[in-house]
Amino acid sequence: MINVSNIERFAIKDGPGIRTAVFLKGCPLHCPWCANPETWSTEPLIMHKESVCVSCRECEKVCPVHAVSFEQGSYAVDRTKCIVCGTCVQNCPAQALSVNGTAMSEEEILKEVLKDIDYYEESGGGVTFSGGEPLFQKDAVSLLKAAKQCGLHTAIETTGMVSKQRFREAAPYVDLFLFDIKHIDAAKLKEVTGAGFETIKENFELICSQRGRDVIARIPVIPGFNLEDLDAILAFVRSYPVRGVNLLPFHNFGKTKWHQLQRSYRYDEEKSLSSGELEKYRDDLVSIGG
Ligand code: SF4
Ligand code: SF4
Repeated sequence: MINVSNIERFAIKDGPGIRTAVFLKGCPLHCPWCANPETWSTEPLIMHKESVCVSCRECEKVCPVHAVSFEQGSYAVDRTKCIVCGTCVQNCPAQALSVNGTAMSEEEILKEVLKDIDYYEESGGGVTFSGGEPLFQKDAVSLLKAAKQCGLHTAIETTGMVSKQRFREAAPYVDLFLFDIKHIDAAKLKEVTGAGFETIKENFELICSQRGRDVIARIPVIPGFNLEDLDAILAFVRSYPVRGVNLLPFHNFGKTKWHQLQRSYRYDEEKSLSSGELEKYRDDLVSIGG
């Protein structure tokens, strides 16, 4: 079984053509700008929408393990107690609660993906596995293989922070690597995201040396993290024979999800970067939602 956060049909920003994006759970990084923080854990999680909650406290009443409280007047869940039984979700009159994360079999995932095969054929699309880190769960390799056996074009949006062995095992079943390079300063990368630059670099070098034409390097451009170092990062990725480079300007669309998980979001006051601010890099700019 594979833990899935979300399956998004008709995705158009995660590779060529019309695609289905499958967001798998689990990530070894913890980037503070992450648009999908609900994918960090492989385990299912309760999410709470403050904006629709009517503060009836029904969730507190029905929780069998007393994980919910309203001590400061607002909802809080103790995730060390929560057993994700879903009782609160079923009893919430405002649909303010949901569980993120479903264990699915390979067949169930592919059945969902194959619903749009006609669109993939017409548009040159396929399936993109994203996350989190799509190769974090070991069964992801077998899922990729099964997707290829169905004749699908496959892409992964990878952090590169994967063991060399797993990366090598997965590579034959991947048609396109959307490979994140967030920073080339190992100490800064480690401090802010928890990622190890050596591992990422090894996987990047490996795949570029064998199949550079199938690699698009992606750089999320984050104020206060790498915006000032962008020229050096670009020079690094361009020293490899990649098919292309995408700059993904910072946006704060993930903010709501951070709040739904009761986590504080570092960029509450930070505005999304406009394309005008990155005008000199316009040839590489790609806007991306979610
Ligand atoms: S999912 Fe179950 S255990 Fe978790 S907060 Fe809701 S009722 Fe309590
Ligand atoms: S049951 Fe739903 S609406 Fe009521 S307090 Fe809990 S989350 Fe809010």
